[in-house]
Amino acid sequence: MPRPVRRHTPAHVDGRPVKITFGEMREMGLRGVLVYCHCGHHVAWDADRWPDNVRLSDLEPRFVCQGCGSRGADVRPDFERGNPQFAIMGYRNMQ
Ligand SMILES: [Zn+2]
Repeated sequence: MPRPVRRHTPAHVDGRPVKITFGEMREMGLRGVLVYCHCGHHVAWDADRWPDNVRLSDLEPRFVCQGCGSRGADVRPDFERGNPQFAIMGYRNMQ
């Protein structure tokens, strides 16, 4: 997996990048998130359950993987269920 280039982006205290909020994600027409674990396990969630002011990165420490039981999953917008045009731009911004 290639390491992302270091940029001047905001980060949480533990070094994870700060991601967009659910409100911003919904404005982009995206309605779900994908939660990826390092073990390869991933799950899809509806974004409806989280309020607009919650960031995707805020959820990451809270997820416990059903496959391996570890925490610290990667939460990303589910572009396949959203607008594919935003998917291309959005992914570039997220990396
Ligand atoms: Zn796992």
